Amino acid sequence: MSASYDVIVIGAGISGMYQLHRLRGLGMRVRVFEAGDGVGGTWYWNRYPGARFDSESWTYGYSFSEEILREWEWSEHFAAQPETLRYCNFVADKLDLRRDIEFGCRITAAVYDEAAGQWEIMSEDGRRACARFLITAIGPLSAPTMPAIPGVESFRGEAYHTGRWPHEPVSFAGKRVAVIGTGATAVQAITEIAKTVGHLTVFQRTPNWCAPLHNSTIDAHSQARIRASYPEIFARCRESFGCFIHDSDPRKALEVSAEEREALFEKLYREPGFGIWMGNFRDVLIDAEANATITEFMRRKIRERVKDPAVAEKLIPTNHGFGTRRVPLESGYYEVYNQPNVRLVDIRATPLERITPAGVKTTDAEYDVDMLIYATGFDAITGAFDRIDIRGRGGRRLREKWADGPRTYLGLQIEGFPNLFTLVGPHNAATFCNIPRCIEQNVDWVTALLAHMGDRGHTRVEPTPEAERDWTQHVHDTGRRMLFTQVDSWMMGINSNVAGKDRRTFIVYAGGAPKYREKCDEVARGGYAGFAFR
Ligand code: NAP
Repeated sequence: MSASYDVIVIGAGISGMYQLHRLRGLGMRVRVFEAGDGVGGTWYWNRYPGARFDSESWTYGYSFSEEILREWEWSEHFAAQPETLRYCNFVADKLDLRRDIEFGCRITAAVYDEAAGQWEIMSEDGRRACARFLITAIGPLSAPTMPAIPGVESFRGEAYHTGRWPHEPVSFAGKRVAVIGTGATAVQAITEIAKTVGHLTVFQRTPNWCAPLHNSTIDAHSQARIRASYPEIFARCRESFGCFIHDSDPRKALEVSAEEREALFEKLYREPGFGIWMGNFRDVLIDAEANATITEFMRRKIRERVKDPAVAEKLIPTNHGFGTRRVPLESGYYEVYNQPNVRLVDIRATPLERITPAGVKTTDAEYDVDMLIYATGFDAITGAFDRIDIRGRGGRRLREKWADGPRTYLGLQIEGFPNLFTLVGPHNAATFCNIPRCIEQNVDWVTALLAHMGDRGHTRVEPTPEAERDWTQHVHDTGRRMLFTQVDSWMMGINSNVAGKDRRTFIVYAGGAPKYREKCDEVARGGYAGFAFR
């Protein structure tokens, strides 16, 4: 007999924790299953050196509880991973969440039993449980991927994926270390590792446009100011495209003079956080000509910061404009390449052939190292779903339904999969967001829907095929105007290490969080139009 609940939540990260709290408020019996041994999701797994926020700490925490806001103090404007993990544990203690969470339990299958009107889940170690409702809180970037090249198992030194970093300290001193990858994770890790490493080799396939983070500690005066202005901070985030504190400049890049343009770019380059990406002229992420202006500015910055012109050229992206892939924020990244003990290998020019027992072999040379760090990213957004065998009505597999790209209604439900809710799932604004801000919206919305069903005695909800078709179409239409949809990255579902993920698909919602929230609210106000209840 499996244990039975009203709701099963998979994942105890930022979204699963809040969902548990809200469902308790409805008096529902909830069980959360979490693969890790603790809460925190992303912040539990990603313990690599240098891991820290790219969102301002004070915009990132939960906003729903005044008590939590009052009692928690961030030490830096962009807090490092250990602090964020402490925060997650603080919230779990405060809300007494752990008693309803089963840790160390990786869910591998979830099957809908139509006759019983229930979902049954199974874990890697054979545990089973069932519930009327199933909520996935599995995160958009939680399925790490290793490079699909031969020999990975053969390496004899230390090897780590950044997304599965060990809990014990790792020392780089005196060691020859190689990092594969130059995404947002690698940029943070490389900068930190370079401070103590013996010798570092970075294997770069695609350079990214990185911008300065400008982190600093929060002094007492700022602390008081932040505390006093949380309502304004969250209100501002609520109205911005990605729920960041930064929102686009109302002007267009090409309608101002070259001097004015340069002045804004310089200002944004000197300011902390994502301003240069999210607070830039309103057309730079949409119009190729406008984008070329900021791209040229960033190109100059790299050339100014990297001493060896040949290395600088290697670090300059040539196949995409600024901001059309996720912008890594950095704290001295480019200067790392001025160190005599750091070498950059362009594996676009000389591709990786294999991992050997001693290190890395490219088409051109062999690099012997003591430690290999895979900063090779994740099977984004749909990957975590693919890793669970999810079967809906009539035994239909979600993996198969989504084989040509996801189809959802509001990024929260899927036709053929009744009573399944996908927090931060594909086609949901949360995947392109200062994530806790969108998570709170997702969770509040799902909670309200469950309350609505409870009040009316409904036991089953599923989107209509038309609603799903229209939303999916809307996601595609909205995405098309953005330049990022013309570029390969995880935001377009590309992962060279996963079979079948070599074609661009629309997996994120690019209409902006305010528009998404408006649509969700409108659906709710209309008695949940587009959903069929029983
Ligand atoms: P990523 O952006 O997907 O980067 C993976 C890197 O590994 C890329 O440089 C990729 O090259 C390279 N790579 C993958 N497979 C390879 C192979 N077989 N051979 C050679 N190179 C290979 O992953 P990530 O850096 O982990 O970042 C993922 C996302 O996590 C970010 O975009 C961001 O949204 C989030 N993140 C957030 C924070 C934060 O908020 N502070 C920090 C880190 C990450 P190609 O580009 O050529 O594929």
